[in-house]
Amino acid sequence: MGSQLSVDESVKVVIIGGGFAGKAAACDLKSNGIPFVLVDMKDAFHHNVGALRASVESGFARKTFISFEESFHDNFKQGKVVGINLETQHVLLESNEELHFSHLIIATGSDGPFPGKFNQISSREAAIQQYEDLVNEVKKAKHVVVVGGGSAGVEMAAELKTDYPEKEITLIHSKVALADVDLEPKVRQALKEILLKKGVKLVLGQRVSNLEELKMNKACENTELHLDKDPEVIKADLVICCTGLKVNSACYGTALGDKMGNDGSLRVNEFLQVDGHTNIYAVGDCANLTGPKMAYLAGVQANLAVTNIINSVTGKCLKPYKSGSLTMLISLGRDNGVGQINGCYVGGFVVTKIKSKDIFVGKSWKEMGQHMPQ
Ligand SMILES: Cc1cc2nc3c(=O)[nH]c(=O)nc-3n(C[C@H](O)[C@H](O)[C@H](O)COP(=O)(O)OP(=O)(O)OC[C@H]3O[C@@H](n4cnc5c(N)ncnc54)[C@H](O)[C@@H]3O)c2cc1C
Repeated sequence: MGSQLSVDESVKVVIIGGGFAGKAAACDLKSNGIPFVLVDMKDAFHHNVGALRASVESGFARKTFISFEESFHDNFKQGKVVGINLETQHVLLESNEELHFSHLIIATGSDGPFPGKFNQISSREAAIQQYEDLVNEVKKAKHVVVVGGGSAGVEMAAELKTDYPEKEITLIHSKVALADVDLEPKVRQALKEILLKKGVKLVLGQRVSNLEELKMNKACENTELHLDKDPEVIKADLVICCTGLKVNSACYGTALGDKMGNDGSLRVNEFLQVDGHTNIYAVGDCANLTGPKMAYLAGVQANLAVTNIINSVTGKCLKPYKSGSLTMLISLGRDNGVGQINGCYVGGFVVTKIKSKDIFVGKSWKEMGQHMPQ
């Protein structure tokens, strides 16, 4: 990759979604000189891997949003895609504008509660302000409850306790084991022990039964949380929700509904082409691939989709996707973390070293000509 290719004038790639997958595809297309338009509802790429640190440390959010326009100039369009016309090969924006494509990369990712995700129509400044507001709410609260003990909830609880050891932090999780099911049991056990050592209170195997009624991310004294099994009522000053993610299928549901799995993700073949469509690719969290949904895998898939688009227009063979072995790192505050690389357990030092400079995600800063978070 990297040299400017000469392709037929009819080639125009539209990428829907500028998350880890979409921005990786855009970087590749840009460096190969392939005409493209990247569409996202925000005007900045959100490095949500740092979203939970940005929730406790003032000034950090600014490092996690990178302006698309500065990186992709006229190849970026801010807008919400509301439909795809497969016949005419157009993507329809909420503003009624239509974008023609010869090839389409769908990278709409997944959505989940703030602060782990920030998939909203927003400017960079407004997004940063929302994180700064949360930092201030955290400061006010004496007892913070984090609901959901998947990887995001675990990281959130650890970030809070690391920066505010004097605050009471409770993590409520519906299952007994914490974090991602794809992690080795010993990794999950180790992170549980670190959280307990830090002083996070764990309430496991219980659901919050009145979650819908609670106001999230806003300090409010004596907010009552009810549990489904235990009669105990937990009183908190601030509730942060880190429960499950959902695939963002709204914009392709009508056109490609018959290609969707139960969770809304798009079924793809080994070349990452959506079933039955040789010019439409799905990558990242919205692709129906086995294994965990991860930022670095989204980037790998996007790189392959671009390679396959280039190969298809230059008459070369397409390359199949190989998922490889799992690398997953959970940071538990600035000072600790656990994870696994190629099935091997890695402890605090390695995780903080990798995640602070972030070999997996830091790449995007270099690619997009920006500085990575320190
Ligand atoms: C708190 C947290 C921490 C994480 N930490 C890690 C980690 O350390 N390492 C790791 O590898 N993974 C991590 N992940 C997982 C990682 O964030 C996801 O796998 C990754 O974001 C997927 O990238 P994506 O590009 O597929 O989708 P997303 O990042 O979800 O991006 C999708 C983009 O599409 C845009 N979009 C959606 N619909 C439309 C539409 N209709 N019109 C226009 N734009 C649209 C959205 O605005 C968004 O920018 C973490 C996830 C969370 C929640």
